[in-house]
Amino acid sequence: MKALLFEKNGIENLKVSDIQEPTVDEHSVKIKVKMAGVNPIDYFVVNYLQVNPIPHIPGAEIYGEVEKVGSHVKDVKEGDRVVVFNRVFDGSCDMCLSSKEMLCRNGGIMSVITNGGYSEYFVVPSKNAFKIPDEIGDELATSLPVAGLTAYHAIKESGISATDVVTVFGASGNTGQFATQLAKKMGATVIAVSNKQWVKEYGADYVVPYDKAKEEIERITNGKKSDVVINSVGSSVWDLSLQTLGMDGKIVFFGGITGSDVKLNLGQIYGMHAKLIGTTGGSRKDLIELIDLCKNNCKVKIWKTFSLEEGQKALNSLFDKERDGRILLKIS
Ligand SMILES: [Zn+2]
Repeated sequence: MKALLFEKNGIENLKVSDIQEPTVDEHSVKIKVKMAGVNPIDYFVVNYLQVNPIPHIPGAEIYGEVEKVGSHVKDVKEGDRVVVFNRVFDGSCDMCLSSKEMLCRNGGIMSVITNGGYSEYFVVPSKNAFKIPDEIGDELATSLPVAGLTAYHAIKESGISATDVVTVFGASGNTGQFATQLAKKMGATVIAVSNKQWVKEYGADYVVPYDKAKEEIERITNGKKSDVVINSVGSSVWDLSLQTLGMDGKIVFFGGITGSDVKLNLGQIYGMHAKLIGTTGGSRKDLIELIDLCKNNCKVKIWKTFSLEEGQKALNSLFDKERDGRILLKIS
């Protein structure tokens, strides 16, 4: 089968090769990969992270059609459209037993500690394959197991309620599009900090530009500012996140495409009674809920779709100044 792989870190080392197809055991599922998401994690895997195995196939966000199932697999069948819950987990540690498989003490992320899905076929344990209903199209399905799931889990952790004002930084980004839509679904008033007006079509009640975010949010909220700030961007908007947070509010953050190092003033944090909530990924339960929630009325803005052969270009496009929505790989 064709796979996009590298033997040494560095985007220039990515190339399409012909390798042996993975085989199915009795508890696993062989997926013919249709599309895969391009996310910051894939860029970090290719360029910086220590990965296993070598040569290595990246690709953390995977969607396709089941081609073959092992003899003990009951939940999915041949022909089903599925997405991959991309965490390796043992199912027996204290984290797994409390439905936090993404924090498994003996696990990790597929595409980092195992090969990923930038290939024609991908084999996973059946506990990692989740059926997609007909109502959800290919592009949205591809965007649920990483971008959608990360945003959904973060929103659950923040405990957003219908009376909250929620400010989303990076609202046009991979996770930001979902954070905006899902916060709206929870009934909140959503302020998207973005230079793209189209995020209004994704559930934002207000769209404010970065350079006027502080003043605009104070004006919209009559000085109360945000109950919840969702920072999907990283350090570049950390100070602004704190400046737009109201008394007793929460900042939820994940992802650090603009960097991870920030300066904290503890007095400012405790003086405002602020809660800082870091999140990563989501659980299988979250993914099932998200698929159900998105059955009829979620959407995703795709900017560009590339072929497997254009993998280098696809990953570099993450940082394109003109970028306006998601980047996907169409594999079959
Ligand atoms: Zn575990």
